[in-house]
Amino acid sequence: MTNWEFSLDCARKLDENDELRSYRSHFFIPNFSGRESIYFTGNSLGLQPKKVQSYIQKELDDWSKFGVEGHEKAQIPWINYHEIFTHDIQKIVGAKKKEVVVTHSLTTNLHLLLVSFYRPTKKRFKILCEKKAFPSDQYALHSQIELHNLNPKDCLDEIEPRNGEEIIRNEDILSRIQEIGEELALIMIGGVNYYSGQVFDMKNITKKGHEVGAFVGFDLAHGVGNILLHLNDWEVDFAAWCSYKYLNSGPGGVSGMYVNERHVDNPKIFRLAGWWGHNKKDRFQMPDQFNPIPTAESWQLSNAPVLSMAAHKASLDLFTEVGMKKLRKKSILLTNFMEFIIENINENSSSRLEIITPKNINHRGCQLSIIAHGFGKDLFEELSKNHIVVDWREPNVIRAAPVPFYNNFEEIFRFGEILKNYIK
Ligand SMILES: *Cc1c(COP(=O)(O)O)cnc(C)c1O
Repeated sequence: MTNWEFSLDCARKLDENDELRSYRSHFFIPNFSGRESIYFTGNSLGLQPKKVQSYIQKELDDWSKFGVEGHEKAQIPWINYHEIFTHDIQKIVGAKKKEVVVTHSLTTNLHLLLVSFYRPTKKRFKILCEKKAFPSDQYALHSQIELHNLNPKDCLDEIEPRNGEEIIRNEDILSRIQEIGEELALIMIGGVNYYSGQVFDMKNITKKGHEVGAFVGFDLAHGVGNILLHLNDWEVDFAAWCSYKYLNSGPGGVSGMYVNERHVDNPKIFRLAGWWGHNKKDRFQMPDQFNPIPTAESWQLSNAPVLSMAAHKASLDLFTEVGMKKLRKKSILLTNFMEFIIENINENSSSRLEIITPKNINHRGCQLSIIAHGFGKDLFEELSKNHIVVDWREPNVIRAAPVPFYNNFEEIFRFGEILKNYIK
């Protein structure tokens, strides 16, 4: 980092040395008023891989050709369509084959997993989560508690940053787990916080949770395809994610879930049943008794949404081709460069752009959350006017996520230029 400069030259050199630079051309970069945008919102909706159209078209062709027989005769038979993801997804989240399944949507999957892993008793009934969790997760947790005729006020323990701080300290999470002790039924945290970009210490949270006898699950909406995950090594009990953020699989795209191997064939883990979770051998003999597949697939209720899965496959093929290690390596450089640029702007002006995302690269993914002290939405509008797409949170937080697949160093330089000139 030492020889970086806030210059176009430096940015272009970094781009030249980037072994993944050609992957940008695999994506459609949105145009605004005829100009290519600088798209830093892959944390919200990833860009479209160019191959998506042909993958979906293939399924449309098979559907028009075969009708119902496509379930067997399509090039990728629809009956088992979800199975094509096992290999790709397993690598991305660090799991075993039997621990993952791609199905439904994220909040739905969270509910299905909570039904299995939140089984409160008189003694053990609390859920630990982060304060200001993503709203859908908050609603899901509240309603799951109410489903058991309990009161969220008594059951939900929300951990927050210390006074005057923006980031929750891992040590505070660990000591809170210890304090709640045997009343703790479940820990459910966003592995990467959507607002601050903070990555939680999933390994040690899981370890501590297990020490007090709780289940531990993570919402990985902002983690998957962003940071390196080792769910099986960390012995995480369950996780779920969506595919349309860093996984670039299209709006409302299909979700994925992980259930640790200890649980997948444990009949004591209750799961809501549907026909696609039933043993494949006699599924179509339609037996009365539900007989779950001894893998994470048994959480799957319905047959595969093939069209949205085709988009997912087009994107995951790119992930498999490149691998998370290389993506993460570039991601760290991009985000460090963005941080460098912002610090440089601060040093050379009276502006106060405060990055609330942790500085330690092990505690963040690609997203930086920046508080623009003294500025309001006008700053966001200035960025938009210059075709820079970032995310704005009232009153003054910018979230910018340089994504290794399609963003480059020159874009970060240009973003810096606009910021510097506006803010000075
Ligand atoms: C994006 C996101 C969601 C979205 O849920 P959907 O069911 O896909 O609409 C939920 N939780 C978190 C933490 C997210 O970041």
